[in-house]
Amino acid sequence: MTSTVDSFAELGLSESLLKTLSEIGYETPSPIQAQCIPVLLDGRDMIGMAQTGTGKTAAFALPLMETIDIKVAKPQALILTPTRELAIQVAEALQSYAKNLPGFHVLPIYGGQSYTIQLKQLSRGAHVIVGTPGRVMDHLERKTLNLDHLKTLVLDEADEMLRMGFIDDVEWILERTPEQHQTALFSATMPEQIRRVAQKYLVDPKEIKIKSATATVAAIRQVYWQVSGLHKLDALTRILEVEEDFDAAIIFVRTKTATVELADKLNARGYAAAALNGDLNQQMRERVIEQLKSGALDIVIATDVAARGIDVPRVSHVINYDIPYDTEAYVHRIGRTGRAGRNGNAILFVAPREIRMLRTIERATRQPIAPLTLPSRADVTNKRVADFKTKVAEVLDAEGLDFFANIVSQLCEEKDVSAEEVAAALAKMAQEGKPLEVAGEDPQPRPFREERSEHRPASFGDRERKPRFEDRGERSERPRFEDRPERPRREDRPARPAPAGDMVRYRIDVGREHGVEVRDIVGAIANEAGIESRFIGRIGLYEESSTVELPAGMPAEAANALKRTRIRGVPINLRQDEGRPSGSFGGERKFDGERKFKKKPFADR
Ligand code: AMP
Repeated sequence: MTSTVDSFAELGLSESLLKTLSEIGYETPSPIQAQCIPVLLDGRDMIGMAQTGTGKTAAFALPLMETIDIKVAKPQALILTPTRELAIQVAEALQSYAKNLPGFHVLPIYGGQSYTIQLKQLSRGAHVIVGTPGRVMDHLERKTLNLDHLKTLVLDEADEMLRMGFIDDVEWILERTPEQHQTALFSATMPEQIRRVAQKYLVDPKEIKIKSATATVAAIRQVYWQVSGLHKLDALTRILEVEEDFDAAIIFVRTKTATVELADKLNARGYAAAALNGDLNQQMRERVIEQLKSGALDIVIATDVAARGIDVPRVSHVINYDIPYDTEAYVHRIGRTGRAGRNGNAILFVAPREIRMLRTIERATRQPIAPLTLPSRADVTNKRVADFKTKVAEVLDAEGLDFFANIVSQLCEEKDVSAEEVAAALAKMAQEGKPLEVAGEDPQPRPFREERSEHRPASFGDRERKPRFEDRGERSERPRFEDRPERPRREDRPARPAPAGDMVRYRIDVGREHGVEVRDIVGAIANEAGIESRFIGRIGLYEESSTVELPAGMPAEAANALKRTRIRGVPINLRQDEGRPSGSFGGERKFDGERKFKKKPFADR
């Protein structure tokens, strides 16, 4: 890792937080943490250029927690995030860091959640609010949220907030925060508008950027699997089963806890695996490495620090189960394979929200990383059957089968069955708890997402939570029409392929007269209903209302969330559109027997 700081203790955090970090299994600060934490503890404003996966949440969360006065049950920190999913995730992270801070209260507030619940929670008093801009704005307007005691304000994923059309709301909020407070702004990129906001509202901010040093990697086959539809553990075992030339693997995860958990799970599935982390003393560590060398172990699950310098030539695979914090860590990790002139394979698991990190790694290593198609059920079954046949063939070639052939003949006679049937029964018995045929379904792409919370630091206690349909990261794949420095005219935007599958057209009560743009609609729907933007169909923007095509079969939860959604403060009142099918807009036509649409919609996606 680029971090020259080896322990959190060097950064000036309190004993209580250090204890928590050790308990949740964080060994060393990530580079962004090493740089940001001292600056924020110093009370300075800062701009952090960091993307998801770098550990940025802890980078701002830990210092702000040091400033919280538990006795004052008022919001002392406000974190603005672009999506409700991120709001929940950040709140969960804070909750886990508050393990040894009794009475600490963090509250996520976001659109789509009932006001009644939020009002009740707000009135109980929270020390930290994590919210999406629209809902925070609503509460400030209603005076149900008071920022008089605010000490820290964090803008998380500022460029995403811009991209989703929330920047005006963010500025509105910034205008209404007390004079004296610390502000931290995190953004993966620095578009002009974000820079302008930073200049206007931050005081002499320290800029922190994690440089991604370029590095050449040895001739290692590098592939990535985009995590979707299947749990990482299932994907891992499928890959381990069918990978060609598999001999031994080092699997990288982020925390000490995860090394142990994953080793246990792999052991339970019949793999010879062990954990390697900073809790092991030198002797134990050497023992694990010796076992990997000798073949007593095939898999070692390690943290970055613990795996430094391992040189075991039989390591045919490095698996980045958790994405590294930066490119340097990636290069170190994959350097554990392809040693002593052997072939090496590096497999990277990338959650949708970590796609940016993947691209950064590709740029820094100047090598494309190819997508890996996960082996299907049939692939795994075929491989198991092929291995089984090889084993049987080896036994057939060996001497000394007469005794057993005699038993088979007896069975055939006694049971009046063929030798084939007896062989089938024996093959079934020989599966030894690992069926040759893989059961279950292969993952299918889903328009309505369900959040999978793998590798969250901890669960979010007893908080009331709705089922979630959104995985915030996939926003990063949204067509980047807002990436350009100036707002493009809609006509300039790249046309997107229509989503496959059945679509239903809905009407919403916001249109051009409300100042609504296509991206506001996409942002609100993606955010509130958790529908990936690529599954959002054509949008027709009219004067007073708009139409939007969404995949058929919307879950009730998503539909309810959308019914309550507001765009630019206007309730959208989503309902199925009874009008003509898409493509036939235009000209004067009636809707609901009342409204007339004289103009052609000018934005069709
Ligand atoms: P973030 O970039 O903030 O979304 O963090 C990505 C993941 O890294 C989260 O699952 C964190 O729990 C984890 N993480 C953050 N900092 C550390 C650390 N110093 N050691 C281990 N895991 C960490």
